[in-house]
Amino acid sequence: MKILDGKKISALIKEEISLEVKKIISNNGKRPHLSAILVGENGASQTYVNAKVKACEKVGFESTLIRLDNNITQEQLLEEINKININKNIDGLIVQLPLPESFDEDLITKSILPHKDVDGFHPLNIGNMVLNLPTFVSATPAGIIELLSRYNINTSGKHCVVLGRSNIVGTPMSILMSRKNNPGNATVTLAHSRTTNLKEICLSADILIVALGKANFITKDMIKPGACIIDVGITRVKSDFTKSGWKLVGDVNFKDVSEKCGYITPVPGGVGPMTIAMLLKNTLLASKSTF
Ligand code: NAP
Repeated sequence: MKILDGKKISALIKEEISLEVKKIISNNGKRPHLSAILVGENGASQTYVNAKVKACEKVGFESTLIRLDNNITQEQLLEEINKININKNIDGLIVQLPLPESFDEDLITKSILPHKDVDGFHPLNIGNMVLNLPTFVSATPAGIIELLSRYNINTSGKHCVVLGRSNIVGTPMSILMSRKNNPGNATVTLAHSRTTNLKEICLSADILIVALGKANFITKDMIKPGACIIDVGITRVKSDFTKSGWKLVGDVNFKDVSEKCGYITPVPGGVGPMTIAMLLKNTLLASKSTF
């Protein structure tokens, strides 16, 4: 069994980005600038946004974090987004999700200009992705593709099973794996909570991508020997062995499954760090006004 080391690969990608930023600056170019909006006090969201801002600093990007109170209205949030949309100094904008319940997330996502939408959530960018046109591919699926590519995992003609059909992970992942690309060219099955014969489907997967949010859901009796397992899930569970009293686990029972699979991403240190690296890559693309 081989570990697909997202921490190592994401560090490599950040190094590549940072070298490119140095080149841009030495040619009197503009430093890429990412702006992030955080509404409210959600603890996990604060952690994610802070990690993104820190990653920007590390590669030499400019970053702006706009923290807005839980009580702001949707109109006020739209005004903030519009200010950034028209600010020529800012290349990329992300609004950290989930937003408090009173906000219409679809409307907010659509209000970000597509060429600044480095999260790749705007319908126009999703449409471009489906058509295999140049675009911002959302960071988690893009990170998984990058990881498969850097480890030279052969996906062509393989059966890829994606568990979970969310708009940000499962659905785009299933499209990317089936596209005429490398990685890609796989025969894809997209499974979800209404799938009846889940175990049977998982057992036939050469590549199993799991994005459920259900801790330790996949066990070794559900996988094909030698399969490549990508674990997207992140769940906080109690632990007697950490100082904080909790730890992060994936959707895959790592200890059990690693005895039987060919490749596996750990949690933490697998897909998570790749997500941030791909957000930086998208911001770099945005700063070059590539599309
Ligand atoms: P989500 O929106 O909650 O979607 C979960 C999907 O799993 C849904 O499609 C649901 O089916 C399906 N599902 C739930 N229980 C199931 C079951 N028993 N059998 C089969 N399918 C089942 O989740 P998400 O946003 O994609 O996130 C999934 C996980 O990935 C979470 O743990 C999240 O924290 C993590 N995540 C990690 C990263 C990263 O960077 N590593 C990024 C994003 C998300 P239905 O559609 O039928 O309800």
